[in-house]
Amino acid sequence: MPTQDPRKNNRYKASHRENRIISRLIDAQGNPLKVSDFYGSNVFDIQKAKEIPEKIRKELINVSETSKTLNPEHAEIVATAVVKWANDNGVTHFCHWFQPLTGGTAEKHDAFFSLENGKAIEKLSVSQLLQGEPDASSFPNGGARSTFEARGYTSWDLSSPIFITEGPNGKTLCIPTAFVSYTGEALDIKTPLLRSVTNLNEQVTQFLNLVGEDDITNVNVNVGCEQEYFLIDKSFYYERPDIVMSGRTLLGSSTSRNQQLDDHYFGAIPDRVMGYMQELDFELYKLGIPAKTRHNEVAPGQFEIAPIFCEANLAADQNQLMMAIIKSVAHKHNFVALLHEKPFAGINGSGKHVNWSMSDCKGRNLLDPGKTPHENILFLANIAIVIEAVRRHSKVLRMSIASQGNDHRLGANEAPPSIISIFLGETLDKIMLQLKMGKKLTDPNINESLNLGASQLVELEKDNTDRNRTSPFAFTGNRFEFRAVGSSAAVGFPISILNTAVANIYKESNAILEKDIANGTSVEDALTKLTKRWITNSYQVVFNGDGYSQEWVKEAEIRGLPNLKTTAEALKVLINPEQIKFLIENNTFTERELSMRYHVLTERYVTLREIEFTTLMGLVNQHVLPSAITYKTQLAQIIKSQKDVNLECSTELEIYKKLDFAMASLYANSHNLGEALKSIQGSEQEVADHIANDLMSQSEIIADYCNEIEKIVPNSCWSLPTYYDMLFIK
Ligand code: ADP
Ligand code: MG
Repeated sequence: MPTQDPRKNNRYKASHRENRIISRLIDAQGNPLKVSDFYGSNVFDIQKAKEIPEKIRKELINVSETSKTLNPEHAEIVATAVVKWANDNGVTHFCHWFQPLTGGTAEKHDAFFSLENGKAIEKLSVSQLLQGEPDASSFPNGGARSTFEARGYTSWDLSSPIFITEGPNGKTLCIPTAFVSYTGEALDIKTPLLRSVTNLNEQVTQFLNLVGEDDITNVNVNVGCEQEYFLIDKSFYYERPDIVMSGRTLLGSSTSRNQQLDDHYFGAIPDRVMGYMQELDFELYKLGIPAKTRHNEVAPGQFEIAPIFCEANLAADQNQLMMAIIKSVAHKHNFVALLHEKPFAGINGSGKHVNWSMSDCKGRNLLDPGKTPHENILFLANIAIVIEAVRRHSKVLRMSIASQGNDHRLGANEAPPSIISIFLGETLDKIMLQLKMGKKLTDPNINESLNLGASQLVELEKDNTDRNRTSPFAFTGNRFEFRAVGSSAAVGFPISILNTAVANIYKESNAILEKDIANGTSVEDALTKLTKRWITNSYQVVFNGDGYSQEWVKEAEIRGLPNLKTTAEALKVLINPEQIKFLIENNTFTERELSMRYHVLTERYVTLREIEFTTLMGLVNQHVLPSAITYKTQLAQIIKSQKDVNLECSTELEIYKKLDFAMASLYANSHNLGEALKSIQGSEQEVADHIANDLMSQSEIIADYCNEIEKIVPNSCWSLPTYYDMLFIK
């Protein structure tokens, strides 16, 4: 029932939304199409393009799988086929779709429509398809370019398919591209990722050849991203300037029931959310994004989606696209999807588990232990190399996931801490320990089956990797899971760092193996020696216990593991010559590209925090204090009228005093923050450190006073949607 109270109206609206029904695709007989019938219909499929001769088709597939370049004449033929496909599908515009350093995606649309001698025609030249020239000075470049030499180029990435996006009233052809400066510096996230994949492929292929697998010509990096997000009703969203401006609530008192009951995780999905997830899957399938799982997450209002893994560069593109579609489909259902790492204080934040593995040209997963891992020395060597890579380059890995949003999650007692460690699981840990001690490798034999005590249930094999949710980097059966990545992150960056870290250790391993084998050591012995060397060197990074505990923070310090707590601290790694040497030597980044990233990311950190502070102070003045004043005035009137007739009013006085104290403290702290912001000065690093180490805690004190006031003030005086509204009303 609509009332005079806008907050009540919003609650009513949110709880009475109609489910959005979309028309399903049907065949000629009116039967619903299966997913396999329309999967990838908005993606340009080389296999189906009849205009492309078989020979060129093969070349193109080879190019996309092996990072070779395409013959320019053949590119023309491909481009012509793309244009025809786009026209057949009623596309009006095209764009080069790329990932600037902001972490989002960028697109500049051009119409196919053109005028030739005053006559309207549809046209797209091949060169336009292959290369674009957006104004690079409008994108963050960390001082690499000035406006007068602003040319930047986007160039077609053949390994990621061209796709069509559908707007309400038309379609756009999107061409995945890399974005580089006039002088060839990477201004984007994709270019270094592609370089890192090429390098890892070369190093691991060489490694396999060295150990006698001559028929291996190519190694792929595979990635599958589990994406977490929150959904809140749209009517609350626009009433919360903090979420609109910064993606998270800057204040808000938690509800009496957060996630203590653990009843949301894997719980029944509410109808309205299910309708949303079904449309989301539908949109993803058309774009050839293989959405596979969907479920409730730990916190109320939190959900997860994961696609089937694929090649790293494609997975990174698909994750960017998926994040955009998660948001746009949510709007259609009158939801807003929050991808921020910590939208609500006091309850679980959102991460993105990046599942990562390598497979060879025969499709074999190099991280698959097989049935008897203790007899599989090649597998153990691959694992030990990754462990050494993570230990040696842990600071750079930590840096790669640094963002202001992720700072609230890492180490906040509910997500892995900012200490990078590896969870191996019992089986693998025992084998690695045997190796380290120089013992004969035996089956640790802990793979018992679980007795469920009910004979009608099938016996389940106990998962020999266990499920340790507290580890930032975990081995999960046949892959590693980089779990400390933030939910809103562009995964291309952490993946490029991980690939390079691993490639670097393969490179060293290759040199060692080559020498040993040349000296007459058998391959088996050389591999065993190598594995022992790496595991001995890096075992301190292995931790199978509870990563959320305070004891671990202390123990990690004793073990000498770095703990870079804030983004401001972590980003400094980007300009530390000793730390970044391997990134340059392995050709993933140039020194200038890294310093560019340092400036862009530090500036971004500072700007985003400043936006948060200003928004918070605005909320204090426009909402919290006015609400408090309204209630205070009511209380004063009541107290006065009761005193006038000699009635006791000790409770009212008590509340009044409590409120008055909280208001005065809030006002003073908010004023101080404003003054501190005005007088902020120093180098960008000094400013970032000052924000991270001083101003952040000040803003948290302000939030605490706001929350105290929220708890005192009656609902009828409170003007902001509450945690209760946003988390529980759907
Ligand atoms: P869980 O939540 O149990 O870890 P999910 O099914 O939600 O698992 O997500 C696991 C993700 O890992 C999926 O994206 C899946 O495709 C991906 N994955 C599975 N095997 C591999 C592999 N060998 N390499 C990379 N990613 C993988
Ligand atoms: Mg999952």
